[in-house]
Amino acid sequence: MKPVSTSRTQIARRGLMLVISSPSGAGKSTIARTLLETDKQISLSVSVTTRQRRPSEIEDIHYHFKSVREFERMRDSDALLEWAEVHGNFYGTPREPVETAMADGRDMLFDIDWQGAQQLQEKMSADVVSVFILPPTMTELQSRLHRRAEDSEAVIQTRLANSRSEIEHWREYDYVIVNDDLNAAFEAVQSIVRAERLRRDRRHGMFYFVRGLLEEEPKL
Ligand code: ADP
Ligand code: 5GP
Repeated sequence: MKPVSTSRTQIARRGLMLVISSPSGAGKSTIARTLLETDKQISLSVSVTTRQRRPSEIEDIHYHFKSVREFERMRDSDALLEWAEVHGNFYGTPREPVETAMADGRDMLFDIDWQGAQQLQEKMSADVVSVFILPPTMTELQSRLHRRAEDSEAVIQTRLANSRSEIEHWREYDYVIVNDDLNAAFEAVQSIVRAERLRRDRRHGMFYFVRGLLEEEPKL
């Protein structure tokens, strides 16, 4: 561990893995996008998926879109840190970018489902901070899926049918937020990130800071 500057903002710490899950349409991608735009210390883990690209999505920004064969090749060569089948498609987290970010002490955001959250929790529990986003009502969830207007009616119906079993997993998360007012929900996530960055067990540089503090003789 390297000694660090005494500036409070520069005290070295471990990166955190912020996992956000929700039933489809509850608003996790919107919240995640706002966080990525406003907080330059955190970057998105871009997943691989076999689902079709939505009109608004950009290859390698929102997802790495793959064929089933390509996905299976990655999965079978241990290139994925976690993977799951969700709503009839495969999704997975590429291992290498996460391991590099963690080694460098950088924060990463994961927009993944409860199956992926469980796998990351098992493998990297010390680094994972998990947040579950709930819709205010099931009626509003349905409206949001329609308002997003990016999926076919059949896809929307599959996602709605799966939403109740996804919501059942809310207890497995560290934090739970009801996304009624978007701004309030975003601010709640921001508060979680701020507080988690200050946790003592993440701030290994604090050891050197405190040692320096105790060795210092007041000058006046
Ligand atoms: P998810 O990523 O959870 O599937 P999205 O972030 O794509 O959901 O949000 C689904 C739709 O709901 C989007 O059209 C988004 O703009 C809208 N939305 C998100 N949060 C709110 C909110 N608090 N109030 C109203 N609409 C919202
Ligand atoms: P969507 O198709 O709406 O982008 O995502 C559908 C679901 O798959 C969401 O719950 C999303 O969080 C989840 N998902 C996206 N990427 C991954 C991933 O890499 N791993 C897992 N386990 N779930 C993912």
